[in-house]
Parts: sequence; C-alpha cells; structure tokens
Amino acid sequence: MNNPQPPIFKTASETAASAPLPGPSFRQLPLSPAALANLQQLGYHQMTPIQAASLPLMLAGHDLIAQAKTGSGKTAAFALTLLTKLNVRRFAVQALVLCPTRELADQVSQEIRRLARSEDNIKLITLCGGAMMRPQISSLEHGAHIVVGTPGRIIDHLERASLKLDAVNTLVLDEADRMLDMGFFEDIALVAGACPKDRQTLLFSATYPEGIARLSRQFLRQPQEVKLLEQHQGNKIRQRFYEVQEDQRLSAVGLLLNHYRPVSTLAFCNTKQQCRDLLAVLRSQGFHALALHGDLEQKERDQVLVQFANRSCSVLVATDVAARGLDIAQLEAVINVDITPDPEIHVHRIGRTGRVDQEGWAFSLASAKQMRRVAEIERAQGRAVEWHSLGELQAAGDLPVKPLVPPMLTLQILGGRREKIRAGDVLGALTGDAGFGKAQVGKIAVTEFSTYVAVERSIAREALKKLSAGTVKGRRVKVHLLQGRR
Ligand code: ADP
Ligand code: MG
Repeated sequence: MNNPQPPIFKTASETAASAPLPGPSFRQLPLSPAALANLQQLGYHQMTPIQAASLPLMLAGHDLIAQAKTGSGKTAAFALTLLTKLNVRRFAVQALVLCPTRELADQVSQEIRRLARSEDNIKLITLCGGAMMRPQISSLEHGAHIVVGTPGRIIDHLERASLKLDAVNTLVLDEADRMLDMGFFEDIALVAGACPKDRQTLLFSATYPEGIARLSRQFLRQPQEVKLLEQHQGNKIRQRFYEVQEDQRLSAVGLLLNHYRPVSTLAFCNTKQQCRDLLAVLRSQGFHALALHGDLEQKERDQVLVQFANRSCSVLVATDVAARGLDIAQLEAVINVDITPDPEIHVHRIGRTGRVDQEGWAFSLASAKQMRRVAEIERAQGRAVEWHSLGELQAAGDLPVKPLVPPMLTLQILGGRREKIRAGDVLGALTGDAGFGKAQVGKIAVTEFSTYVAVERSIAREALKKLSAGTVKGRRVKVHLLQGRR
C-alpha cells in the first residue's frame, strides 16, 4: 500500500483531525524499535489513513469507533494497539477480538501473528464454531495471551469455564455491523459482560447502521469516533452500467468476462439461488468459477478463498454477506450481476476493485425495473452513471475468443501448521530440488492441516509430481491438484 489517496476526513473528535496526510510514518507512534523494524519488513512503510487517524487515539487508551471501508487496514490498527499493551510474562488472556465468521477470524489471527513476529512467545488462539471443542480446550489450558473468535464459540467456552476473560484489557469488535446483521447483539453483550469494566473497547465497522450506536452506548466509554468516508477515486474504478433483460442477465456476465478479460473477478448476486444459477451458467461456458455461499463446509470455503486469492480461479460468485470483509488483493473487476437496493452496498461492492495503485473495472447489470435503484446510486455517488450496451460486447464476442484461463493452479499439500510446515519450506522444495523458478510459484497459504501453493498452470503437473516424489521439511508429503470444481 504505497501512497494511499488522501481521504475525506470527518471526525467527531478534534484530536483525530490533526492526523497528518498523506502517508504518515509509523515512527511517530510510541511503538518499540522491534515493532517498527517488523513493520518495515512487512512492507508497511507508512500508515494508511484509518491507521493514522485511529492509532494515536487508541495508543492513548481511548475507546474508539472506527468506520472505514474494507481493505483500509483496520486490522493492523487494532492489532498494534493490543500488542503494545500486552505483557508476555503474564499468562492470561489480555486481548479478545470478536469477529463475525471463521474466515474473518482466521484472517485477523494471521495479521496479528505477522505483526507479533517481533515479540517472542506471544500465544494466540483462534476459537470458532465448526471446529472441535476438545483441541480448543487443551490449547486454552496451555494458556494464551490473545483470543480471536466468533461470539457463539467464545460463549461456549465461557459456559464451560475453559476461557476466562477477567484479565482482558482490550476488547475488539471487528466488523461490528456484520455481527449485528448476523444477530449477535445478545452474544456480544454476554461476552463484553464477562470482561473487566475498565478495559479498552475498540469497535470497527464498514458501515454505520443504527445498531452500532446502541452497541457503543452500552459497551464503550466516551468513545472517540473516526470516520473515513468513502471516496473511491473515480479514476481508479471505471464503472460501466449495462441495461439487460432479465433473461440476459446471467449470460451477460460471460460476455463481460470474454470482452474485458480480467484475471480475477468478484461477481455479486443478490440471492444464493442467483449464485447457484450463475455458477452453472459460467461453468457451462467453460469459465473457471467458484461460489462462496453458506452451504459450503468449512474446508470447502477455505479452498474456494485460497484458489481465488492466488489466481487459480477467474470468477468468484458471492452474495454480499458471504463476501463481506474478505481481504482479496488484485481484483481486476467487480460485476454487479444484480443492482442492490442499498446504494451504500453498491459503493462497498465496487470498492473491492481498483485498490491503492491498481485500476479496476466495475460492471453493473440493470434491468428496466431497476432504474430507480440506479438513480439512488447516482445520488449517492454524486454523479451520473455511464451506460454501455451489451451489443458492444457481442460484437467482439462474434470472433472466436480464447477461453479465459486463470494463470495459476493450486496444489494442496496434506500437512499444515500442525506439522509445522511454513511457506518457506514449500518454496524451498519447489525452487530447490524440484528446480522451478521463484517467479513460477505464487501465493502459499498454510492452514492448520493443509498447505496450498499456487504454481503457474503450465508447470502444475510437473510440480505435483516432483513434490510428491520429494520431501518438504525432510518429510514425504501427499499432494493433490485442486481442480476448482466446487
Ligand atoms: P480492513 O480490515 O480495513 O478491511 P485489512 O486490515 O484486512 O483491512 O487490510 C487490508 C490489507 O492491507 C491487508 O493485506 C494488510 O496486510 C494491508 N495493510 C494494512 N496496513 C498496511 C500498511 N500500513 N501498509 C501496507 N499494507 C497494509
Ligand atoms: Mg477487517
């Protein structure tokens, strides 16, 4: 993230308004030299706007409500705050982060781990539903400094007394709007009630629905507010609207993909059924598409996200709920398969593309009946939308088009954090004995039981063979090719 655009600031506190812009350095914060060096190593050379606005307040001990769009660096903001306060020699849970879903809890855990690298022996446990209780209980018995989890599972542990929160000094409500959407208000109340009253509470949200004020009144003490209002740099996101008949809607997605040929596209549907239908249409047209919806098993969800993030899948089809908060870099295009009734959601959807120094496309398919919704979007963004016709795409579609193929393929290695496999081990195995170039290897994601490595499509079979025949970390491993047919 170099050179973030200056945002529009609207802060309830005068203090935050003095945050320097743009690209202020982390050095002006009271962080340890080791923490600063680690930030440099991670490539975090300057604070993002929300970090610049919120970190001084949080490090000074204030409760905080922070609102900023997805991908703006909110996780590191609260992670640095809770890590700064942590006493490693005290074997008790000192920080608790509540997240709406397991994926988000995993992402947050990963980011905290990265930021905690400069300190030895910080123990973090992720506690989410869908995983077995027993291993979680035994991990907790060994002690943890930080717990990240979903409200339901945290309550399960509180009820069994396998988790104690009486030493918590930082409580974070991440994606608070989403937790409210999911009906977690009572659960949050229960968890907050189990934390000491004199804790610091930090609330993060992408939007500001009425429930947030209620949460804040009940659980925050004289909170400072930092809001970075949406300002999508119009020049970075090129938005185009297409008018469609209802029966053209799904096939229009393929036309857009063949015409613009984005490597990674997030296609938003308004309903789960529409997701399923679109997935079927795209696959029948030969696209490498995956869907993210509530009916997937956890492992399948992980695999879908990994393959999309590492460029092994061209299109991810999702509902707003399924896609919220996910941190996916390098998204060339967003397609609004349907127009959402809520203009704020539209702004969030298209904000997924064209991040930082990349350009992105945002396409929207609107039927005649949806023109009122489009008008609301125009009002919300303060300018008229740009209309194009499907005919322009079909003209190009008449030529024989090469199928859109993702550049990478994903190999799944059976063995992950449990086996102490690290990304470097896998990269080493591929570039060492197997003889591949570093540039042919993409993202490596280590989960608890599996490691997923993206390799260039052209070397995938050979890489599979060589990894299966060789060793990772001195051990033989089982490897599969993920075919993305989910
Ligand atoms: P949010 O929670 O606001 O949606 P995230 O915390 O997931 O956003 O951050 C989005 C991405 O930006 C992450 O990949 C993170 O590693 C990266 N990031 C965060 N802060 C910085 C920074 N100061 N410089 C560079 N990258 C950053
Ligand atoms: Mg977040």
